[in-house]
Amino acid sequence: MEMNFCRRCGAALTHMSDHVFVCENGHTIYGNSSPTVDMLLINSKQEALIVKRALDPGKGELALPGGFCDAKESLEETLQRELMEELDLKPSDYDTPQFLCSDTSQYGFKGEAIPALSVIFWARLRQDNVALTVGDDVAEMLFIPLEHIDLQKIFFPPQRKAIKILIEKLVK
Ligand SMILES: [Zn+2]
Repeated sequence: MEMNFCRRCGAALTHMSDHVFVCENGHTIYGNSSPTVDMLLINSKQEALIVKRALDPGKGELALPGGFCDAKESLEETLQRELMEELDLKPSDYDTPQFLCSDTSQYGFKGEAIPALSVIFWARLRQDNVALTVGDDVAEMLFIPLEHIDLQKIFFPPQRKAIKILIEKLVK
């Protein structure tokens, strides 16, 4: 992880491990992963809701809706906010989200690799014809049959893992 100076006093940091750093003034700085929440939404035809990203990283690539937790948000709150912002979906539009899997990855942003911990849920949409509008960070929204998703086109590796797990659960 890239972390060179103490955020408390500005002194140079010594790397103790991949996420623990100390400065000469005795401050210990932790560079833990930032949590993100993603959602795999399925309609009655076993199709997954996939978004085409409008912004970098991964502009033009496919992904699940979701994003980083704000400082004081729970995972549930992040999930609700992101689905509202990206797709105008309310909690009443989908069943109670179920935990699917989690994984770590490096989120490349403006030349920096940010360690991310993705927590991925899934749920069924309550109606197939729910009115969806896309937010600023979404270029397009697609419904793709779960087993026909080209995993190489899914930008974030933890989301590929989640899709594979849900295929095992629902299709096979
Ligand atoms: Zn310091």
